[in-house]
Amino acid sequence: MAGSAVRRIVIVGGGSAGWMAAAALSMLLGRRVEEILLVESSEIGTIGVGEATLPTLRAFNATLGLDEIEFIRKTQATFKLGIEFRGWNPERTFFHGFSDFGPDMRGVSPHQLWLKMRTAGDHRSYADYSIATVAAGLGRFAPPIPDRGSVLGSYSYAFQFDATAYAAYLRGFAERRGVKRIEGRIVDVRLRPEDGFVESVLLQGERSVSGDLFIDCSGFAALLIERALHAGFEDWSKWLPCDRALAVACARAGEPSPLTRSIAHRAGWQWRIPLQHRTGNGHVFCSSYIDEDEAAHTLLANLDAQALSGPRLLKFTAGRRRESWVRNCVALGLAGGFLEPLESTSIHLVESGLGRLLELFPDRGFEPKLAQEYNRLMTRSYESVRDFIILHYHVSRREGEFWRYVQNMAIPDALRHQIELFQAGGRVALYDSGAFAEPSWVSIYFGLGAFPRHHDPMADLIEDAALSRELQRRAGIVAGAAQSLPAHGTFIDKYCRAAT
Ligand SMILES: Cc1cc2nc3c(=O)[nH]c(=O)nc-3n(C[C@H](O)[C@H](O)[C@H](O)COP(=O)(O)OP(=O)(O)OC[C@H]3O[C@@H](n4cnc5c(N)ncnc54)[C@H](O)[C@@H]3O)c2cc1C
Repeated sequence: MAGSAVRRIVIVGGGSAGWMAAAALSMLLGRRVEEILLVESSEIGTIGVGEATLPTLRAFNATLGLDEIEFIRKTQATFKLGIEFRGWNPERTFFHGFSDFGPDMRGVSPHQLWLKMRTAGDHRSYADYSIATVAAGLGRFAPPIPDRGSVLGSYSYAFQFDATAYAAYLRGFAERRGVKRIEGRIVDVRLRPEDGFVESVLLQGERSVSGDLFIDCSGFAALLIERALHAGFEDWSKWLPCDRALAVACARAGEPSPLTRSIAHRAGWQWRIPLQHRTGNGHVFCSSYIDEDEAAHTLLANLDAQALSGPRLLKFTAGRRRESWVRNCVALGLAGGFLEPLESTSIHLVESGLGRLLELFPDRGFEPKLAQEYNRLMTRSYESVRDFIILHYHVSRREGEFWRYVQNMAIPDALRHQIELFQAGGRVALYDSGAFAEPSWVSIYFGLGAFPRHHDPMADLIEDAALSRELQRRAGIVAGAAQSLPAHGTFIDKYCRAAT
């Protein structure tokens, strides 16, 4: 069958992953496929959480040609300059912002310049050089200007949005491009007897839907990739032991801030994600250390405003499918794996899965090498995110039984190497296909008070007085630039306030 084009794609599931797939495939494959169908069950519904994103979502939306202002209004979105971490280091709150710490100087990274001055007794905070951090701290926001040479062009931003509204918005987009939605509950998956490829899904009431390529976006159910194709699950809970979340929305309290907040608690952490019309909250916790009642009490005691309902419990296991492309089935979203939302990475992993599927798009011969390459790349992406999240726990400074476990547990080899390298001289070994660049890793190490034993000796070639003057100049420029931005709420009011 090699050489014959995929004619029909069947997407199973209509959560954010399913409709992101439908939107992207209908837009980018054009007439290369005859038909794209999406099967979902409104009776089962979607997970309904997933409100914070990474800046890469902007590129995804731009590829679809979405109008950013319309997207923001439709999804009640706010802007996000990064994540504020409270209680992870009892000595200080810190920020992981979507900007670097300024340019290199004579080839030396800005965090190394700061380390050198710290050794020399300069107590200015490294955060003073990050425009995203300073602007977020002031509650200010405007999109970066198109000039990378200016500090006002040197940061990025993401969104905090209503994920259910995003899926609905993309549904409209995909249906206008010909995607057909089929309402129904899948009760069985039929495999071709000769080679075990997925042939069709059977809906309640005997209707069956056949296809050439199946995209499994069925959420934690993993109907095709696991239940039918037995891809296997790599369990990472020994490194990421949180296994529950309680989620609840509360009323909006004042103007939304341009940041997601992560507040550490006794056996986990709480998110606070401000949208235009409400605030999303959730408590991610480890059930071996606290029970649901205590977790709910902690969550509800730490809301900014009145809860809009009772908290909803979600159970999960950290990990991923051993293979997310098996035969003629590719799993995206929760069907492919789950990593807790500490760094808002799940929707990003859907974007990368879709990008790679398009790069490696098969024909009906389904060359096994394509799936192998896809799985190799996705393994790297998942592992890089996994290690970045583990870093937050492992290097944390908090006390308590749960925290002692994560601080002392054995960690993956690649992360062990990464941490030891940083401890030795502040170097960051970036992961291939990793979602996070050097400034992100530095933000977490420094934020948690993990400073290296030595700084880069190349920094010593720069004279102390000259470096001090330069850093002072940079901090002044960052402070002035941040002050020049409008308040986040003012910017939203002026350009993209959603209709109430
Ligand atoms: C606690 C928590 C917090 C999160 N926070 C974030 C965050 O801040 N940022 C982020 O990027 N991600 C976050 N995520 C992840 C994010 O919610 C998901 O990755 C994303 O929404 C994609 O979900 P999905 O589409 O894979 O699954 P779902 O939304 O669960 O959709 C599954 C779909 O499959 C359908 N389906 C299932 N079984 C059947 C059946 N038998 N027949 C027919 N249809 C069926 C359902 O009806 C539904 O349409 C979070 C996840 C959790 C659990």
